Amino acid sequence: MKLSKMIPLLLLFMQTAFAGQLQVVATYGYIGDIVQRVGKDRVEVVLLARGDYNPHIIIPKPSYIAKLRRADLLVINGGQLEIGWLPQIIKQANNATVQPGERGFLDLSMHVHLIDVPTSVSRELGDVHPEGNPHFFLDPDNIPIIAKAITERLSELDPDNQSFYEANNKELYALWQQKMKEWEEKLKPLQGEKVVEYHKIFDYFLNRFGFTIAGTIEPLPGIPPTTRHIAEVEQLIKREGVKYILQDVYNPQDASTYLSKQLNVKLIIMPHDVGSVKEADNVFSVFDEIVRRLTNG
Ligand SMILES: [Zn+2]
Repeated sequence: MKLSKMIPLLLLFMQTAFAGQLQVVATYGYIGDIVQRVGKDRVEVVLLARGDYNPHIIIPKPSYIAKLRRADLLVINGGQLEIGWLPQIIKQANNATVQPGERGFLDLSMHVHLIDVPTSVSRELGDVHPEGNPHFFLDPDNIPIIAKAITERLSELDPDNQSFYEANNKELYALWQQKMKEWEEKLKPLQGEKVVEYHKIFDYFLNRFGFTIAGTIEPLPGIPPTTRHIAEVEQLIKREGVKYILQDVYNPQDASTYLSKQLNVKLIIMPHDVGSVKEADNVFSVFDEIVRRLTNG
């Protein structure tokens, strides 16, 4: 066969050989977006959780099990955020590749520093943050760390494309550093402001940009407030001169609305993940939207 006839055949073979994308299952939208940015057309990503749901309580659908059964890689937040719903899906999917401890299982919480890790072994009943605060995604300094962990794992599973993943990660890192400067600049005037939040979900963000968390409407993470606790928070807001009440999109808003109206303190509904509000459709726009809502008057 002449060389000119062989080339198209060779190309056809190469296309076929490279057509198999890595099948990645991500628990939350932010993870899926970062995997997609690093893996681009080399990965096919499916998400398990909807962004506007409580990340602690996802109702498993049977289709999740089928998705996980075919996966090459499962990437989770970890830190017990998925403890209430993911273990049974992993069990039912019965996919040896993505079991904890395998290369096809990546727990992002192992790569970052968790805050509020309890020093004593006694756990207060019902606290959904028993091993520390799992909402580390909302510290934007953690994004490059998460992206690096994902880059390394994709490279390990698909070494032929290592330089491709690394280049994409480098590109993401450069864009992220630019945005960090912009967010820091915009939030500078709010440094030191006191806030109250409903659930301890924005702590990483608030710490990073120098806000003071005066208190929470939930007495403990995951425990709804009693009338008595709301009255205490009311006193605290008055006493401390709290500027904002911050509320996620999924918890009941009655207490926050009551306190906001009663005390004339601004209530801000904040996105916590990709897909939590329509403006926050990727990791960049989640932070853009948080910053926009905080700085809008
Ligand atoms: Zn939480």
